[in-house]
Amino acid sequence: MPTPPVRCLACDRAWHSATLTAGLRTLGACPRCGGELAFAAPPPPAGDAKPDAPAVAPHQVLGVPRR
Ligand SMILES: [Zn+2]
Repeated sequence: MPTPPVRCLACDRAWHSATLTAGLRTLGACPRCGGELAFAAPPPPAGDAKPDAPAVAPHQVLGVPRR
């Protein structure tokens, strides 16, 4: 069984959704019991994070524009 991306240390509830993992990271505590959460992955670096910027440039997804 794979390690869940986020788990509550207090009530042992596990979440497997990436969206929920991000939300729980923001919340910082278990929504059920308020216990401490254990994340499988380290938190993304803060500071220079730009939520509006795509992770890759459009031309990397769409291919090199034709000349
Ligand atoms: Zn909990």
